[in-house]
Amino acid sequence: MRRCNVCGREKVDKKFKHRNKKTCLSCETIWWRQVLRSMVKERQLTPVERLANRSGYMGSAFLMLSPYLLPFDGLGAYTYLVGAILSMPQVWVAKQWNIVALNFNLLVGYGIYIYKMTIG
Ligand SMILES: [Zn+2]
Repeated sequence: MRRCNVCGREKVDKKFKHRNKKTCLSCETIWWRQVLRSMVKERQLTPVERLANRSGYMGSAFLMLSPYLLPFDGLGAYTYLVGAILSMPQVWVAKQWNIVALNFNLLVGYGIYIYKMTIG
């Protein structure tokens, strides 16, 4: 027995399309809900996407931290590089090429910054 998330009634498991479904079949087969469902692709994240997402969150944390660390002997520049490298897989897997370009620009820009800071 499970509770439908639309009508709120308790129903037996065979009244649901599969075990992960939260909406019962009778609520799902309403014509306007079928129209809405036809517009959404049902899928789960692959292991690569999950791993890339976790790495992306860590990279974002480094990127958020970086501006505050820049005054401390340019420590922020290194965290910018780490953040860009960590968040690259997520945007690459999701094919968000504008963010890939942005991260690549971070790598090049702060790479030059660190090079000038240490060498010249
Ligand atoms: Zn229902």
